[in-house]
Amino acid sequence: MKKETICIQSGWQPKKGEPRVLPIYQSTTYKYETSEQMGKLFDLEESGYFYTRLQNPTNDFVAQKICELEGGVAAMLTSSGQAANYYAVFNICESGDHVVLSSTVYGGTFNLLTVTMKKMGIACTVVDPDAPIEELRKAFQENTKCVLAETIANPALVVLDIEKFATVAHEHGVPLIVDNTFATPINCCPFEWGADIVTHSTTKYMDGHAMAVGGAIVDSGNFDWTKYADKFPGLCTPDDSYHGVTYTEKFGKGAYITKATVQLMRDLGSIQAPQNAFLLNVGLETLPLRMERHCANAQAVAEYLEAHEKVAWVNYPGLKSNKYYELAQKYMPKGTCGVISFGLKGGRSAAESMMDQLKLAAIVTHVADARTCVLHPASHTHRQMTDEQLVEAGVAPDLIRFSVGIEHLDDIIADLEQALGFVK
Ligand code: PLP
Repeated sequence: MKKETICIQSGWQPKKGEPRVLPIYQSTTYKYETSEQMGKLFDLEESGYFYTRLQNPTNDFVAQKICELEGGVAAMLTSSGQAANYYAVFNICESGDHVVLSSTVYGGTFNLLTVTMKKMGIACTVVDPDAPIEELRKAFQENTKCVLAETIANPALVVLDIEKFATVAHEHGVPLIVDNTFATPINCCPFEWGADIVTHSTTKYMDGHAMAVGGAIVDSGNFDWTKYADKFPGLCTPDDSYHGVTYTEKFGKGAYITKATVQLMRDLGSIQAPQNAFLLNVGLETLPLRMERHCANAQAVAEYLEAHEKVAWVNYPGLKSNKYYELAQKYMPKGTCGVISFGLKGGRSAAESMMDQLKLAAIVTHVADARTCVLHPASHTHRQMTDEQLVEAGVAPDLIRFSVGIEHLDDIIADLEQALGFVK
């Protein structure tokens, strides 16, 4: 099926007399006939639902849809994008291990890896995503367990050279984890270019209406954990907490997601609420339509801004003048995303006064939903970063992040025009 069809038809498949629309399984628990049946579930001898902290049918039908969209073999939902990236890494890393991280990842992910996971004994080396492969090689250590990067970085809008990152990760016997939040599987399929695991903040375009925080992890099934069994004992040696089950032996290509579900979800419990999964599923139905409009609007807004006399610079990978134009054409020929960044000739103070005049575009922390919105990362999402880190992350102090919605283009441009009129 084509992606447009998967978005509508995949996941929930009602049988005779069942609801046409995916039901919300609003139940913490599930009934069994015998004690033995329940026991087998706890031993992972049979599959089935027993407690929503581990798995819930509504969530699983939505995860299945996202899995198909990405072309993976298994997927799971998480309570947020943060939880998705945390689980994706922590599923194969433990204290004493090391991660290679792209410097331009979202501020929350950067903080998760460089501050919080560091406290858990997981070190990381931050690399410039544009660095030549020889430079990237130097970041790897004996104890490196994965590489983490974003297909389109938030908010630097750096387009990842996925093949370069996949090559260097695989040379070192580790998987490439790619956060595909901004491009979405409609515009980019990282698995086709060598990525092994994909994560999402479904809070963004997938939900698309700014209603539900959520995340997802998808496994391509392509990374052979057993080839590097010494590196990945959590997957390739018996898990005492499940009576000695070895995930790769018992679950094959489903090993990674099964472990993240039955072990990490069980112990850390960052499940997505079934209500949120239901909303996410509704959002997914229109994702292809919305992405098309987001990209068309953003392209036109970027071109408008580039030609404006008060604008100092515009960063949008769809612009021919953009550093990442060629990479974007290669990896996401249908379009990139609806997010643009730009700076004004009047610098940071002009940015702040212009933003205050916007009427249609709201100042919100959010990004990538149906409504046009705007943010000043240095003062908001990235304010925990030092100036040095901001520069490394590709976030200039005057950078305005403008998330172009799916309203009529004329109204978005009219709003910018009137707000820019106030800038001296
Ligand atoms: N990954 C990316 C690329 C993001 O932009 C964000 C949030 O903005 C996250 C992860 C974190 O997701 P969430 O806010 O759903 O926890």
